[in-house]
Amino acid sequence: MTHSTVNDLSNFPKTIAFIGAGNMASAIFGGLLSNGLAPEQIIATTKSHESCERTRENFGIRATTSNHNACEAADIVVLCVKPQTLPEVAKDIAPHLSPDALVISVAAGIDIDSMTRWMGESTPIVRCMPNTPSQIQQGACGLFANDQCSQQHKDDAESILSSVGIAVWLDNEDDIHAVTAVSASGPAYIFLVLEAMIEAGVKQGLSQELSKSLAIQTVLGASALAISSEYDPAELRKRVTSPGGTTEQAINVFESKNLRAIFSDAMDACANRSKELA
Ligand code: NAP
Repeated sequence: MTHSTVNDLSNFPKTIAFIGAGNMASAIFGGLLSNGLAPEQIIATTKSHESCERTRENFGIRATTSNHNACEAADIVVLCVKPQTLPEVAKDIAPHLSPDALVISVAAGIDIDSMTRWMGESTPIVRCMPNTPSQIQQGACGLFANDQCSQQHKDDAESILSSVGIAVWLDNEDDIHAVTAVSASGPAYIFLVLEAMIEAGVKQGLSQELSKSLAIQTVLGASALAISSEYDPAELRKRVTSPGGTTEQAINVFESKNLRAIFSDAMDACANRSKELA
């Protein structure tokens, strides 16, 4: 397993078409632009003319309602439509892909086998599972490549996805379900933890506003410390938990109520649902 982070794309020599220009696509092409990719190297497509115009105005990139034209002009095609729209779009664009074009799909629950059926056996495809913090270039994304992908295709996919956070290669496509449980759905768990901390702070007498600021900054600070520290999270926890101190009281309650088992059950349920939907 390898991973990379945000990089400089000012010399990235390829044109990228985004089929769909909604939340996920705009997060990614926003990241590409921030990392130095020239606007003229990005073409986005939308269903409606209004979205097309908005995309052009907001990002300064090329935009069209013609998936065919976009694919014909691109070295890399990133599929960013909703999963239910993907079969029709994939079959429709397949004959319009440039020779050796890489296809990247961000659609949840659509496997490489299905994509290959719709687009042809020889199509290099990277399937990925990003998350919503990609919108602020703090995403975490799992990537899986089919056998048709060359090292260059993989490098290109990694360059694109690492423009919005970390991009992690998976050895097995089935690991996508675990990635869904950890990072794709993970932001919702942390938002739930934040809700609970804010409510508990208010119960202790803080104003909603104060409790919210302190809780959010604490999660940000803890994450930043975990990223920058030489110690793993267990050691960092021990370092704030003095024997007989205040934190120990809280940790004892979490452990006695089996917080780890709750997370394990919750993430099993998430991964199982991901398998059912596949
Ligand atoms: P979204 O905001 O609804 O955007 C969908 C886009 O697709 C819109 O720009 C829409 O154009 C366009 N579109 C629809 N039909 C089209 C067609 N036939 N040809 C070209 N464009 C078409 O959706 P999203 O939330 O970004 O999700 C996109 C994909 O990302 C999904 O497959 C989802 O599973 C995946 N994903 C999303 C997240 C997330 O956090 N959002 C996380 C992981 C994976 P109009 O604006 O004109 O309708």
